Amino acid sequence: AREALRQSQKMEAMGQLTGGVAHDFNNLLTPIVGALDMLQRRGLGGDREKRLIAGAAQSAERAKVLVQRLLAFARRQPLQPVAVDISKLIENMAELMSSTTGPQIKVVVDVKDDLPPAKADQNQLEMALLNLAVNARDAMPNGGTLRISASADTAQSGADRRIPPGQYVRISVADTGVGMDEATLARAIEPFFSTKGLGKGTGLGLSMVHGLASQLGGALIINSKLGLGTKIELWLPQTEALPDARSIARDAHSVRGR
Ligand code: ADP
Repeated sequence: AREALRQSQKMEAMGQLTGGVAHDFNNLLTPIVGALDMLQRRGLGGDREKRLIAGAAQSAERAKVLVQRLLAFARRQPLQPVAVDISKLIENMAELMSSTTGPQIKVVVDVKDDLPPAKADQNQLEMALLNLAVNARDAMPNGGTLRISASADTAQSGADRRIPPGQYVRISVADTGVGMDEATLARAIEPFFSTKGLGKGTGLGLSMVHGLASQLGGALIINSKLGLGTKIELWLPQTEALPDARSIARDAHSVRGR
């Protein structure tokens, strides 16, 4: 729990810092993009100048996209945990996830339809699953299979210190992609850690998914083998009813009573 707190404080600080920098950067970029756009439209100079201006305009566009993503990260909405029907959510997401990954990747959905509801934030969980789909796509440039499954599971006390003991709905997103080496795996959830190169990855995807899982009292478990693939598990606490104040208090009781 202390580690989760440390991580969420780090995220909070990062969010504020990022928001401030991204905002100023966005303002600075506006005249740059505008000037380059004007130069391109006037078509001044020879071929060499035109190429240089086109290159600069492209970089500035990429910088704008990056800054927009950082702003979106900093403006993250506060969590609104409710009881979510995970099988329905995944069913609704399957098409979007498969259009995200593209025709080269086969998407297989294997979700039990009698799942108990899980404590989650509907929008943020959808964002999280999309992030995982983007990562899976990037990990399978030559195609492969993305398997999304969900089932009810129990975490025994002491079995895995990353998962607090309790009853969960476990969502698993597994790809047959390039996998991660140990150094990458060790840093994967760190904010801003990315191996994807400038303008491609923000390094915020997994840290956002991890933040979501731990804020909900669950866990994010990553298994990866270089050359074989990656399996990301999202453990979300089971919940009985909508978490108004009373049902949260009841949850706390039943956890203590076990
Ligand atoms: P980003 O996708 O912007 O790089 P993430 O936080 O989502 O940021 O991921 C961090 C890093 O973890 C990635 O750059 C990549 O090296 C690794 N990674 C994440 N998901 C996968 C995956 N499914 N397969 C292989 N590597 C992955």
